[in-house]
Amino acid sequence: MLVVGAGLAGCVLALELAHHGVPSIVVERASKPPRHPELNLVTGRGMELLRRLGLADTVRAAGDDADSPAAVVWSRAIGETPVLVNAVPSANELRRQYACDRNGSAPVEPYVLLTGAGLTTRLRDAVRGNRLIDLREGWTFTDLRLEADRTVATVLDAASRVRHEIEAGYLAGCDGAQSTVRRCLGVPLEDAITPARHCTVTFRSESLQHPYPGLSMIIADGMALSRRAGNDLWIGHLPLEEEDTDVSDPAALLNRRLGIQASEIVGVTPWQETLGVAGTYRRGTAYLVGESAHRFHPPSATVDTCLADAVDLGWKLAASVARWGGPGLLGSYEGERRREAMLERETLSRSLEARQRFGRLAAEGASTAQLAAVLRREAPHMNPAGTTASHHATSTVVWHDNAGAGTRLPAVRLSGGELLFDLLGPQFTLIDLTHGLHGRPLVASAVARGIPVTHLPVDDDPLRADWRSRLVLVRPDHFVAWRAPERPSDWDAILDVVTGHRVQDHVNT
Ligand SMILES: Cc1cc2nc3c(=O)[nH]c(=O)nc-3n(C[C@H](O)[C@H](O)[C@H](O)COP(=O)(O)OP(=O)(O)OC[C@H]3O[C@@H](n4cnc5c(N)ncnc54)[C@H](O)[C@@H]3O)c2cc1C
Repeated sequence: MLVVGAGLAGCVLALELAHHGVPSIVVERASKPPRHPELNLVTGRGMELLRRLGLADTVRAAGDDADSPAAVVWSRAIGETPVLVNAVPSANELRRQYACDRNGSAPVEPYVLLTGAGLTTRLRDAVRGNRLIDLREGWTFTDLRLEADRTVATVLDAASRVRHEIEAGYLAGCDGAQSTVRRCLGVPLEDAITPARHCTVTFRSESLQHPYPGLSMIIADGMALSRRAGNDLWIGHLPLEEEDTDVSDPAALLNRRLGIQASEIVGVTPWQETLGVAGTYRRGTAYLVGESAHRFHPPSATVDTCLADAVDLGWKLAASVARWGGPGLLGSYEGERRREAMLERETLSRSLEARQRFGRLAAEGASTAQLAAVLRREAPHMNPAGTTASHHATSTVVWHDNAGAGTRLPAVRLSGGELLFDLLGPQFTLIDLTHGLHGRPLVASAVARGIPVTHLPVDDDPLRADWRSRLVLVRPDHFVAWRAPERPSDWDAILDVVTGHRVQDHVNT
């Protein structure tokens, strides 16, 4: 297994493979720690996925103050009274609320806000400490050759200037937005918008006041300004206009556009607005993962999407390496994950449109009440839970004959206080709420076929009262593959579908 890139997606993929006992080589172009100061949101759902890998605490430790709330503030102009403030409770406040959740729709972890550099550094440390992962920093992937059953990659070791060929059963391109792997595979990025020029300016300003504690994101004049809790650095995302041919004087740009006096410019990054999704996520045995497969700028739930891509591909690759995964299982990676990227793209384009409409209406002199009404109807809300984002009901590897398959398993707390999620096995788990352990022979027959399934008897009357299903088969990524009130008549047919040995036709549910 060769992973190209040790950013978010590459690290999580390698760690997911290791979680299933599969070794990998990871080549990373950079030999220095990452420097990406922007704040990333890892939602509760993203943190649930990291918790499975034992990474939630280390990632949270690098995050912003968990007692700080966040606010998205819509204003006509910087310094004006806000038209609307969407407040997001602090992570610790949400943790308290989630603990009272009865139906399991809340995540088991609250969100965390941390810099891109902080996130990647923590993940890379975990990769370095994992004996199944061989991380080669300062190694740049330059080319590949697809063969019938493998991919041969060319990589350059910057220290020795030696070029190596690595033969890999599978290759995962986790090399980010400018992916060389994607280019070598000849996969186009299909953009939904005409790219517009923007720039991000990181700055300090004594005159710019903000009355909100914690992270605040101010949206005004078509621009977004954010400031972290306990930090005097501001980050501004500014659309560039035709006359802005040169961004070498960002202080003048800030002043001209927003009337802001910056006392110090810390950095400036030009970028193109883009909502691109790769035409395909796979060629031969090479796959695209994370931002190499979808590039959304400005980003929204991008971290979660990249993370979930890596987990999805990771467990499916591991199943294929262990030979219990059929061809349809790896085939389902593109079906499940590309659709998620398309959905995120739709959400993001709606939110960009809402932002533009707000600017136009404000410029036309709409009243505060009118603007607030439009925002309440249309403005995107920060979704710190993230649990409703993914849904695989139409996947080819979930059993379509019962409702509920393809959804995230409810993260319920049992009567004894344990979290159901923490009791799940690393591979498939059969949750058994029957009186009489009816699931035991099902698990035994799966294991006899070489399919690793953990049998999890749960003797919990409140849960029995809440769930109609007595048997629930859960995938390694917490999605329900199959569930039923009683033993199935053809268990082998179900196993064939959920492991990708028999492709079930798409059913609209
Ligand atoms: C300025 C900026 C601001 C962002 N803000 C947010 C935000 O607010 N919220 C949010 O959700 N997301 C945000 N993101 C996006 C988020 O950081 C990305 O979604 C995430 O980092 C993508 O992870 P990735 O692993 O796919 O790519 P990356 O993190 O880009 O990792 C790719 C890795 O591959 C390596 N690499 C590249 N080419 C090669 C090669 N040829 N050989 C070997 N290694 C290679 C790179 O060095 C890098 O380490 C932001 C991104 C940027 C750049």
